[in-house]
Amino acid sequence: MDGNIIELVDLTKRYGSFTAVNNLNLSVRKGEIFGLLGPNGAGKSTTILMLLGLTEPTSGSAWVCGIDPTTNPIAVKSRVGYLPEDVGFYYNRSGFENLMFTARLNQLSGKEAKLKVMQLLDRVGLSSSSEKSTGKYSRGMLQRLGLADVLVKNPEVIILDEPTLGLDPTGVREFLDLIVDLCREDGLTVLFSSHDLHHVQQVCDRVGLFISGKLIAEGDIQTLSKKLFAQSPFVIEVGFSMLDPGSSDQSALSTSSDRVMMVLRKIGGISAVNPKEDFYQIACAHDATHEIARAIIESGAGLNYLNKKEYGLNDIYYRYFEGGENHE
Ligand code: ADP
Repeated sequence: MDGNIIELVDLTKRYGSFTAVNNLNLSVRKGEIFGLLGPNGAGKSTTILMLLGLTEPTSGSAWVCGIDPTTNPIAVKSRVGYLPEDVGFYYNRSGFENLMFTARLNQLSGKEAKLKVMQLLDRVGLSSSSEKSTGKYSRGMLQRLGLADVLVKNPEVIILDEPTLGLDPTGVREFLDLIVDLCREDGLTVLFSSHDLHHVQQVCDRVGLFISGKLIAEGDIQTLSKKLFAQSPFVIEVGFSMLDPGSSDQSALSTSSDRVMMVLRKIGGISAVNPKEDFYQIACAHDATHEIARAIIESGAGLNYLNKKEYGLNDIYYRYFEGGENHE
């Protein structure tokens, strides 16, 4: 497994003639936060269920902590904590009582259980609400309690299925911070499924993009972006104005605008100059920011705006969507 704590090889799940997960190959390294990102119905939950031994693959194999979940689901469950989309608690019982119940189920003695539960409630920031019944918890508090609940058994891996769904921005921030702390301080490996780009981008070391049961891309954001935007890795946005904006002579203005275009196109390595609403987007093979700025000023125009575009997960995700399954 070479440092990989999750290893999926040609993993496939079919329901009748429908393929929910299609030939999935994926590795997650120990101690990383890996994001499974994709729209609803992409196959994320089905993949998670196979990792937990809760549903059998049609073909291919899965290894979690070196164990095959299909043949040994109990051993996997003892090493993996799973937070489903909707966590169920006894809502007429307190957070403390709920966690005590889990701790006793995990064979901890009364004293050990109490100590562990108090530590975990503190860890997830719920000490002051520990006696309150969970029916009165907010969605954010319930998710943090859910996290404490999966940590009772000291798992090596935690799998979180859409954990930020329905949380308000503060709840999301608190939850994501907790995940990062757990991963960095306790060396936990986290598999985090979400359809929310922004949440995944905030915390994940690497992401896998899922569409229609297929993993269409995998890697850290920089690598994905380089691969995807390899043809024109630099995009510079510029806005400029002619020096006499008050002039009513439209033909003079457009002539001077054409002059700027001509100068820009002469810069080596520029592959496209695309007009946007009130600026131009220039694609170039190298970082031509300085040359572009100089060219505009020397042509006699005024430089109003200059921005080197950084690609985020958003751009990557939508570019893959546009390309569908044609991207390798
Ligand atoms: P995601 O978690 O990415 O939203 P799922 O893994 O839940 O996606 O579902 C992937 C696809 O498999 C969906 O089209 C879903 O309807 C289908 N699916 C999931 N479970 C079953 C099932 N038990 N029987 C038939 N189809 C299913």
